[in-house]
Amino acid sequence: MEIKLYNTLTNKKEIFTPITPGKVKIYTCGVTVYDHCHLGHARGAINFDVMRNVFEAAGYEVTYVKNYTDIDDKMINRSNERKISISELAKENIQSHDEDMLSLGVNPPDLAPKATDYIPQIISITRELVEKGFAYEVKGSVFFRVRKFEKYGKLSGKNIDDLQSGIRVEVDENKEDALDFALWKAQKPNEPSWDSPWGPGRPGWHIECSAMSKHHLGESFDIHAGGSDLIFPHHENEIAQSECANGKPYANYWLHNGMIKIEKQKMSKSLGNFATIRDLVKQYEPELIRFFTLSTQYRQSIDFSHTALLKSAEGLDRIYGALERYASNVTEEQERIAREHGKVLQADYDQFLEAMADDLNSPQAIAVLFDLTKRLNTLEPVSSDATNVYYTLLKLGEMLGILRIPAVQWFKTPRIKINGSTKKLSDEEIETLLKERRQARADKNWELADQIRDQLQAASIHLEDRDETTVWRRK
Ligand SMILES: [Zn+2]
Repeated sequence: MEIKLYNTLTNKKEIFTPITPGKVKIYTCGVTVYDHCHLGHARGAINFDVMRNVFEAAGYEVTYVKNYTDIDDKMINRSNERKISISELAKENIQSHDEDMLSLGVNPPDLAPKATDYIPQIISITRELVEKGFAYEVKGSVFFRVRKFEKYGKLSGKNIDDLQSGIRVEVDENKEDALDFALWKAQKPNEPSWDSPWGPGRPGWHIECSAMSKHHLGESFDIHAGGSDLIFPHHENEIAQSECANGKPYANYWLHNGMIKIEKQKMSKSLGNFATIRDLVKQYEPELIRFFTLSTQYRQSIDFSHTALLKSAEGLDRIYGALERYASNVTEEQERIAREHGKVLQADYDQFLEAMADDLNSPQAIAVLFDLTKRLNTLEPVSSDATNVYYTLLKLGEMLGILRIPAVQWFKTPRIKINGSTKKLSDEEIETLLKERRQARADKNWELADQIRDQLQAASIHLEDRDETTVWRRK
């Protein structure tokens, strides 16, 4: 099967050709473990987790590496603020990262290297770059000579001269050129350090990924992935270092996921809309976050909002609704047999995989799931047709990392817990809210009317507006 991926390096969708037939080696930039993970981290992790499933389904043997950055300025600053050691800070946040990823159903990578375990490899690449004239030492720090690498800018499409004029005056006077970046930083007072040929110091951020990927995947490998915010300078610098040191192409395909906005604003701590994964999973069923994320193709930006999540919940409920209808109309034993020994419907499976093989078009793949849902709803549950549709739905869901919860259980827990509350509404409370909503609509106060509808939906109350009245039922 042909897999097409959009390659940032060439700015086009290309047919994937592995370096070694049947194998694919993937490196993705992991998190800097100074704090809890946020929604942006979730997105990359979910998308590239699904990409790995797709490669496996297409018969590839996958090696997937995702690192932890456990030494850099942010780590040092935070450990000082919190008055704990850097290794304690790293340990705490690596654990938090792993728990968050598990809660979102993200499979652990095959290898999860920590930057501080690769100091000798980092030093070795840096030394090689100095020997080849691509880097120079000044007062215990080592800088990369950007102008020496003619292809600098090939990933981001940035031109060296434009960069030069756009540069801010911060300029480190130790550098030959303001564009140069640090491979090795001489130790400053009260900073952790490792011995090196240039004296005590620590690695720069970019070189860490070059060292870890080389160690585990070799000098050239297939796919390098990460968020689009990492294209420049991080990935550009990784390419420069690695290609100059190794004299070989670095990664063949560069994949970048789009950014997430929250309620139409850029997610940022200062705006107070910084969504950590652990806060989100308290408010929304994790599988819903996953489904919502995959409802947009990975390169597009996503607008995350409570309303968008509610809409997404309706979609996921529809699929689970069909699964539940099937499961509650057959015996437990029949359900188990269907789940374990059904037959995959080849045409649907192929259609799904084709969508995913087209630059991971997950929304189109989800459309196949909706189509199966519709069919399952019209079929007699005790029939081999229904059994196979049921099985195929679950199989395809598995590839996306959804539909992991028994359908009957899905509707027993709220998918959305407003303000983290799981309060069940009584019939009287529902009637009161509906009365308020009617009034709001009569007053043309649409915002309030929508808010009430959302609140009811979040409490798993299904509304149906009919002429003059609204009927409701519990989902
Ligand atoms: Zn990286």
